[in-house]
Amino acid sequence: MKSHFSLGVIRLTLIAALFFVLSGNQQFWGQCLAFFTPLQGHNLLLIGSLFSVTLCLMLFLLNLIAIPRLFRPLLTLILLGHAAAAYFMNSYGILIDRDMLQNVFETNPAEAFELVNLKLIGYLLVLGALPSALLWRTEIRYGNWGAALGRKLGIMALALAVIGGNAWFFYQDYASFFRNKGEVRRFFTPANFIYGSGDYVHHHWFLKPMRIEAVGLDAKRQSPGTGNKPMLLVLVVGETARAANFGLDGYGRQTTPQLAKLDVINFPQASSCGTATATSVPCMFSPMARRDYKTSQHQESLLDVVQRAGMPVLWKDNNSGCKGTCNRVPTEDVSSQKDPRWCRDGECFDEVMLEGLDQQLAKHQGDLLLVLHQKGSHGPAYYLRYPNEFARFTPVCQTNKLQDCSQESITNAYDNTILYTDHFLARIVTLLQQQQGRYNTAMWYMSDHGESLGENNLYLHGAPYAFAPETQTHIPMVQWISDGFAAQSKLDLSCLRQAANQPVSHDNLFHSVLGILDIQTSAYQPELDLFKACRANG
Ligand SMILES: [Zn+2]
Repeated sequence: MKSHFSLGVIRLTLIAALFFVLSGNQQFWGQCLAFFTPLQGHNLLLIGSLFSVTLCLMLFLLNLIAIPRLFRPLLTLILLGHAAAAYFMNSYGILIDRDMLQNVFETNPAEAFELVNLKLIGYLLVLGALPSALLWRTEIRYGNWGAALGRKLGIMALALAVIGGNAWFFYQDYASFFRNKGEVRRFFTPANFIYGSGDYVHHHWFLKPMRIEAVGLDAKRQSPGTGNKPMLLVLVVGETARAANFGLDGYGRQTTPQLAKLDVINFPQASSCGTATATSVPCMFSPMARRDYKTSQHQESLLDVVQRAGMPVLWKDNNSGCKGTCNRVPTEDVSSQKDPRWCRDGECFDEVMLEGLDQQLAKHQGDLLLVLHQKGSHGPAYYLRYPNEFARFTPVCQTNKLQDCSQESITNAYDNTILYTDHFLARIVTLLQQQQGRYNTAMWYMSDHGESLGENNLYLHGAPYAFAPETQTHIPMVQWISDGFAAQSKLDLSCLRQAANQPVSHDNLFHSVLGILDIQTSAYQPELDLFKACRANG
């Protein structure tokens, strides 16, 4: 083929890097720009920094593969992958990572064909085929190999230096960005599918498949006696709510006005297993107590045991997933629904989980353990967690950069998130009261961990447990139990009300739920069942 253009290889990698950074990455840049608003001053610097970091990352990767004979075919593959990735991210808003690529690699041709449409072909032509055609019509000048290698290493070192310099100079900003918007990196094509493919190959070809250790293989449930209604237990896994700001737990402000009017049982001395979602959520559903808990990613959870005993389980998520806890039970992710009543900018208020729930329950047959995983008080953008009518404490900190806000405005925004959780829980209780004709109903709410709101200059959470301030581990925990549910499980509610003043923790969840649902298994430890002493057969 006759070449029309001729380019030095370094210049070609620079053009290609610019092309990748600037094309097909609307999702990535959109989310970054939204995070760094308002677009002025320091935020503009950060956008510039992100641009130079992504450009240098691509420059580094492209120079790594800029080898005669190999470069053109590899770059063509990356261009086509880039076009497809851009289409799926922009059309469906999906993140591209190992799990996503696993679906791609393990799909069958019929399924794959169903995804093909004109828009996808358009993307493949404009972002994939067209630049590939130009690439194949371009003569690439590599120069003599010694000088070429020197230039290549030089440009790669320079790219790394720019990335390192930015990381050093903007360390605080990047740390906060990745803590809050870490998933956004999976929107940056082509780095996302290159990394994801490598991760997939590593995971499936080089790692031994992890065996999931079974728990409670002998789990059995005594069938409910005749005349009894099915049981409906709703577990609400809270997010970042701390007892210190919870009205029911004695906070100076009434942040739980609706729960205060309901006949709930409050546990003022509850503590969490971890200080971050990734530890606390699997730990609370694990049979292990906190001091024994390391990771339960390869162990079955409470949900597996309950399901095995014959009780249906459903996990509804408005957070970032269940961290392995719900992998083998039915799940619904509602966190990126488009419902205009509850959702905006790709995020939803927790009430989205209650949308259509009464119809769902009306259709359901038999018992149900329903888990609702809240977005709760997740920071630092507390002000985004609640609808406007819950902005009762003002002024509120209206940025995710807490350092820029007064202590008072941070606390106000956080307290409003608790007000909203109070409303959310009260709505669940109302819904369960309405379902009493069909079910014996109960709700158990517990937060996954607490939060630091600037005390001793600590913000957010995730401190190592041994050093964590109490605000990060002292959590709110509330139960509402209908008379029907109490009668069916032979539970004395006034006894439980007394017992509720004792210290409890995430360690109790696994064993208490098995106990109250009357599930017998060798995995059950009666001493951790907080209902046991208050049950007639206990
Ligand atoms: Zn959490």
